[in-house]
Amino acid sequence: MKNLLDYCEAHLAATVQTIETLVRLESPSTDKAAVDRCGTVLADMLRKAGAAVDVLPQQERGNHLRARFAGEGRPVMFLGHFDTVWPIGTLERMPLGRDGDRLHGPGTFDMKAGIALALAAMEALRVTGTPRPPVTMLWTTDEEIGSGTSRATIDAEARQSAAVLVLEPALPGGALKTARKGCGEFELTVHGVAAHAGLDPGKGASAIHELAAQIAVIERFQDLPKGISVNVGLVSGGSRPNVVAEEARATIDVRAPTREAADAVESAFRSLHPIKAGTRLTIEGGFERPPMERTAAVTELFARASDVASSLGRALGEGSAGGGSDGNFTAAVGVPTLDGLGAVGDGAHAAHEHVDVTALPWRAALLAGLLVSFR
Ligand SMILES: [Zn+2]
Repeated sequence: MKNLLDYCEAHLAATVQTIETLVRLESPSTDKAAVDRCGTVLADMLRKAGAAVDVLPQQERGNHLRARFAGEGRPVMFLGHFDTVWPIGTLERMPLGRDGDRLHGPGTFDMKAGIALALAAMEALRVTGTPRPPVTMLWTTDEEIGSGTSRATIDAEARQSAAVLVLEPALPGGALKTARKGCGEFELTVHGVAAHAGLDPGKGASAIHELAAQIAVIERFQDLPKGISVNVGLVSGGSRPNVVAEEARATIDVRAPTREAADAVESAFRSLHPIKAGTRLTIEGGFERPPMERTAAVTELFARASDVASSLGRALGEGSAGGGSDGNFTAAVGVPTLDGLGAVGDGAHAAHEHVDVTALPWRAALLAGLLVSFR
């Protein structure tokens, strides 16, 4: 383990350079041309590292990259994304730069540094001649917008893997994510009957009044002690003050820690029924990302990572995250998944986004050591 850490420490400059190269190639999820520019450079890096790279072409999103590093036995999967939430031009007002131990810039922490760590780990293993299992890396381009075009590949690759190591940012201080809530989005549309509010006030059926009553019901789905949160985040409806509203809509964000809780909230939404006469409801949506639960297999995987960390002189924490990642999908497939193995830092999706440069060597060595444990 010590020789892996020594290598990662000695080659820290190369890891930083990889991050900088990827961050300079801005890659907002919705800009295919920009994401593909970043992907082309990343594909080259992967080939130079010895991988067979498949570019998985997409019509509207950036092309996903799948890199296979040959070896004996069942592969271990590295999973992450190289799209970011930052529009082109963000570098001008949020420049890439070093400030003491911090490397700032859009997409550093979430999660181009995670990709650089994966490459550093593979290089350390190669140069030290350390035996490892085969590795499949999947770097996707639409994680920040729901993974619509990557999910099928994520699921398929996960099914063939012994475990999935997700290179998303760590929790504060470097802790791993052993649980993530499932994320749901529901859209409630209320259909009413329009009428003149002054001339025929008794005739219509107000979609807005009905929506208000439904929101009071939906609010009670929230159960914070059980970790279930429900937020009616968007509402719209009606046409004019003097018209009884014909239609109204609400979009609701829901988070739940377990499959059971997610199913219960989902069925509560499906069983909403009209309260005021003359109105009708349409309910759409569901849980896009199922919960990532802390199963026995996840606990075992974390214990392994923790052992590797101690041999590197580090104590590894764990925690749960309210937000989802592609790790939610691989966990739902039933493959042991460990998330938050990427960089230590802060400010994902925020102006102060940065990574802690001093933590990069031990994070890369942790990944390398964890891989070796699958031999
Ligand atoms: Zn991310």
